[in-house]
Amino acid sequence: MHELHEREVLEKLRELNAKRVLIQTPEGLKKEAQYLADFLEKNGIESLISGDINYGACDPADREAKMLGCDALIHLGHSYMALNLEVPMIFIPAFAKVDVVKALSKNLGEIKKLGKKIALVTTVQHIRELNKAKEFLEKEGFEVKVGKGDGRVSFPGQVLGCNFSAAKVEAEGVLFIGAGYFHPVGVALATKKPTLAINPYSGDAIWVDKEAERFIRKRWAQIAKAYDAKKFGVITSTKKGQLRLGEARKIVKLLKEHGKDAQLIVMNHISYQALEGFDFDAYVVVACPRVPIDDVENWRKPVLTPRELEILLGLREDYEFDEITGGKRVQDEPMGISLKLPKSL
Ligand code: SF4
Repeated sequence: MHELHEREVLEKLRELNAKRVLIQTPEGLKKEAQYLADFLEKNGIESLISGDINYGACDPADREAKMLGCDALIHLGHSYMALNLEVPMIFIPAFAKVDVVKALSKNLGEIKKLGKKIALVTTVQHIRELNKAKEFLEKEGFEVKVGKGDGRVSFPGQVLGCNFSAAKVEAEGVLFIGAGYFHPVGVALATKKPTLAINPYSGDAIWVDKEAERFIRKRWAQIAKAYDAKKFGVITSTKKGQLRLGEARKIVKLLKEHGKDAQLIVMNHISYQALEGFDFDAYVVVACPRVPIDDVENWRKPVLTPRELEILLGLREDYEFDEITGGKRVQDEPMGISLKLPKSL
């Protein structure tokens, strides 16, 4: 069971004088959400669990919490993202309990191939281990840079699937700690530097440059499929951290200037299934950049990111990953649970 800090949560809720809360959870923490709801109920706080799928801090259910008369929203599994909230929100990030130094030590030979000056990044799950990893690498003679990142991330060195600002520091190569391909491929594409991914669970090290090339080839094929498209659906999401309305409008304008038909579509959860029946030849997703990429197999029409559309229209030559940037980061977030209040409170 993941650490929930339930006593600390209860204390914060009591400070807020909260009588009813909504708990939001990603797929992997549903049991924890149940446990927390049970604990809070026993302590006199009515607890509702949101059954909707939640992918990130970009998707807070604060509007729903307000509608349900909840005094606070508890968001499990992700760290704080700067958003305009409607109710107080308690973030309980999920930190993995795995020793990252062991995997680094096993792969020192590969890490040395990155050069002496390296950028170090990870996802929120391993962020608490980042300092330990940095100290270990420095003892081994590396100059380690941990980028602060912009206002979309909570911690120095943290990357999201839509934001690699913390990786953009002066370094010869980038060392990513974490599992999966999406983040390190994004890092390699965003920095254009050699990127080594170390999986702290398996202890494996993977050079992601080949994977990044494969990724670009697939995306070029998607761009080619949209070549003859005349009618475009331009989609943005009503999820607060994915709503890019201004940019979506610009894309509509751009398409029209290039002689295409374009219509703005707004939806909460973006899936091709929900779009079936519309008469568009292709889509541009101006929301979470993972949607047109991770889910591409399920789309029967070509689906592009805004940067890919620019390639299609001949406005850009080099492939660029679609990122959602934040403003300047003003302060470091506490590593444990954090309470964020709406601006009006
Ligand atoms: S990658 Fe997508 S789901 Fe993850 S934080 Fe960014 S917008 Fe949200």
